[in-house]
Amino acid sequence: MLGSASIVGGGIGGLTAAASLAKRGWSVTLYERQSTLRAHGSGIYLWNNGLAVLADLGVLDEAIECAHYGPVIETRNAADEVMASVQTGRGRPATVLTATRSRLIDALARACQDLGVDVRTDMEGVSAHPDGSVSFAEGTEATADLVVVADGVNSRIRDGLALTKSRIGLGQMGARALIPRTRGLLPDADEPKYIEWMAGRRFVLWTPISDASLYISLVSPKGHPSVAPRLDPVVWTDDFPQLAGLFAELDGYELHWAEFEHITLERWSAGRVAVLGDAAHAQPPYLGQGGGCAMMNAAGLAHAVTVGGGGIPDRLRLWEETERPLIEYTQNFSTGVAQLNDLPESVRTTFLGALGASADFGRNRLRAAMTTPTGIAPFRPAAV
Ligand SMILES: Cc1cc2nc3c(=O)[nH]c(=O)nc-3n(C[C@H](O)[C@H](O)[C@H](O)COP(=O)(O)OP(=O)(O)OC[C@H]3O[C@@H](n4cnc5c(N)ncnc54)[C@H](O)[C@@H]3O)c2cc1C
Repeated sequence: MLGSASIVGGGIGGLTAAASLAKRGWSVTLYERQSTLRAHGSGIYLWNNGLAVLADLGVLDEAIECAHYGPVIETRNAADEVMASVQTGRGRPATVLTATRSRLIDALARACQDLGVDVRTDMEGVSAHPDGSVSFAEGTEATADLVVVADGVNSRIRDGLALTKSRIGLGQMGARALIPRTRGLLPDADEPKYIEWMAGRRFVLWTPISDASLYISLVSPKGHPSVAPRLDPVVWTDDFPQLAGLFAELDGYELHWAEFEHITLERWSAGRVAVLGDAAHAQPPYLGQGGGCAMMNAAGLAHAVTVGGGGIPDRLRLWEETERPLIEYTQNFSTGVAQLNDLPESVRTTFLGALGASADFGRNRLRAAMTTPTGIAPFRPAAV
């Protein structure tokens, strides 16, 4: 064994870190506070970077079984005109597909199981210390050579380590819904696409995630009447009349709203403790890259601590030097896109139209999505 690792948090970042370390010969224990490993949210966009990590862990097929391959991502305005688009679809260099989160979490959990990770549920981490010890709510403590903290955006352990540099609420609230993929809600030619509509300061994202399921993401400014516990079709159809059929389907749907955040840390590590995923680099979801970044950063960490020289704190510093520029670039890009929601409609249409016509915009938007995570083989589009 190369050494021992404690992982706190069994979401996308923690499970990927656990499996990637175990694959490289570490003895890994993962601690999750819930009683089961459970997905948060409904659907997820997976790009080349995340797909490469899943292939590296041997669970690509399982994660994307039944996934949907949209032919294009379109950004439309209130008048339903396309302002920008990215061609996607099976076999293109920029591969994106959409899957259920539960399938992704199940696949990563299986990778952990196959690779011998000791998964312990009902274990809430309370604090971690630079010497490699972690304390749990039930009063026990564990010590390892390496601790990976991946306990999400409200990370209690990150706060205890006083690593936060900035935590910015973007004033935009997001909620998600998962419903049967009833045909006829959009014209047939649009139905399989990924479509995002921007109107006023609100946003709706249409995402088929399998033949049977449709994932809808909603964004409204904080304090807007639509930020309510149940969906009211009237307040949504107001800004998005073209989606009246969809909102009729969603009438009364229970919505859980959370504010989008942009988080940066002073440092991603303290001694033997590394922080990653939303705990370290949360971003708004406009590029569909929060989970992709968590996966690629977890894979990069496993590589850095395995092949690097020096002690664990040095290897973690090297990991941060290697991974941080691209992750922060992606966070900043995504937050920049979020700010488009705040522009007046006509300015946004002109601005996005110009951006959409520029090849650079598409390339820049996809930079992280198209990057091969450190230390693993590139994703081959032909693989799916
Ligand atoms: C609306 C929306 C849409 C998104 N769409 C996409 C997308 O399409 N593609 C994409 O790549 N990303 C997307 N993201 C981002 C993605 O969901 C996150 O970046 C990703 O889930 C972060 O993973 P994580 O493991 O860091 O944190 P989490 O998923 O939050 O997991 C944290 C885990 O830690 C556990 N935990 C918390 N505290 C403790 C504790 N004290 N002790 C032990 N366990 C603990 C939690 O129970 C949870 O299991 C989206 C986000 C939002 C909000």
